[in-house]
Amino acid sequence: MIGANQIIEKKKEFLLPSSHRNHFYANPPQIVKGSMQFLYDDQGKEYLDFFAGVSVMNCGHCNPEILEKTIQQMQTLQHTTIIYLTEEMVQLAEKLASVLPGDLRRSFFCCTGSEANEGAMLLARLYTGKNEFIALENGLHGRTYLTMSATGIPMWRADPDLSPKVHFAKTVWDSNTDLEQAAKASIESIKEIIQARGANHIAALIAEPIQGNGGIITPPAWYFKELKQLLEDNGILLIIDEVQTGFARTGKMFAIEHYDVVPDIMTVAKALGNGMPISAFCTTDEVAKAFTKPSASTLGGNPVSSATALAVLDYIEKYELCETAAHLGEMLKEGLIALQAKYSLIKDVRGIGLMLGAELVKEDGQPASEETDVILEKLKDRGIIVGKNGLNRNVLAFQPPLVITEANVQTLLHELDEVLAELQ
Ligand code: PMP
Repeated sequence: MIGANQIIEKKKEFLLPSSHRNHFYANPPQIVKGSMQFLYDDQGKEYLDFFAGVSVMNCGHCNPEILEKTIQQMQTLQHTTIIYLTEEMVQLAEKLASVLPGDLRRSFFCCTGSEANEGAMLLARLYTGKNEFIALENGLHGRTYLTMSATGIPMWRADPDLSPKVHFAKTVWDSNTDLEQAAKASIESIKEIIQARGANHIAALIAEPIQGNGGIITPPAWYFKELKQLLEDNGILLIIDEVQTGFARTGKMFAIEHYDVVPDIMTVAKALGNGMPISAFCTTDEVAKAFTKPSASTLGGNPVSSATALAVLDYIEKYELCETAAHLGEMLKEGLIALQAKYSLIKDVRGIGLMLGAELVKEDGQPASEETDVILEKLKDRGIIVGKNGLNRNVLAFQPPLVITEANVQTLLHELDEVLAELQ
């Protein structure tokens, strides 16, 4: 093993120079092993993982039941899906259709969330014959040209010359107003864009049901219903990006189900493969007809990723991970709200299921970004990994594998309580 310092040196020498800026820690641990909700570093230290690689490992690290299917498939066949017939991808497509909301039932498989969103935006263009988009501030949709153009978080917009075809509307959150007002302002700003550009130019609006990297921004119950109606009235499609929220994370298979809305196109990635690269954009019979050229990707839905994803969907159902996320999410949220009453640093606790955020703000109203880093570091030293997000990187993010226990939630709350007390 080369060790943590050498990894950083090699990153600096052989990866893009900015790659080491992604770490959350002054001394990032070298993770060498994972087992369900636990990670282990090169020193043998155990960490309780409350971030799951940003909602990737919903079924836990190296889950043996899922791994068995992955390894079995690896030993049998790994191949492209384009030229020949392979069974796993269609089995997965059928299974996915059975859990997708409403009349969504057709999938195009690819490898990353960015690709799925890029494909979804292409499909919206093909179906509507229009080529402009609306996206929300604070949203994150990917690293390709168009998905980065639709990303409203400045730190993820690497290119100063992004597509002018994407128009940004207000998100449903504003630190100075309440959620209801902010959500109304968001709808108003979408209306203004539609009016300014003309409905005949806008193909789709793309949004996360709960903005993850934007700071666990959770709209009020009515928001997406009203939004869908507004878009429908104007012949604009709704693309819902479930890349971070999908697969039981929020207590339902997909977060948009909390809002009782069926989008025209939905994208999935991350947790679908529980660590194996697989993603998809999913749509209705009607919208799918617009894609008339050959539709496949070299390794999208490859046999190994598909067999893994099938095992993931079976595991979520067999072990009732939606129920776990709902139940433990409620318990964690209650605990965080209790900490909020004790520590004024916690301004807001938000989210659904096991996708929760605690926004940290200083006495003078400024984002507590440095304090967030200190908390992350101290929790890591105590053997707990949590995430951070938000435009000012001042929102603690709790998105653990959905195989955690009540005792794990209590451990996290206890350690966080002590760390917050130390900070006072
Ligand atoms: N959409 C959302 C909501 C995401 O959180 C991410 C990744 N953080 C992406 C899209 C991009 O996914 P990928 O990194 O797999 O391209």
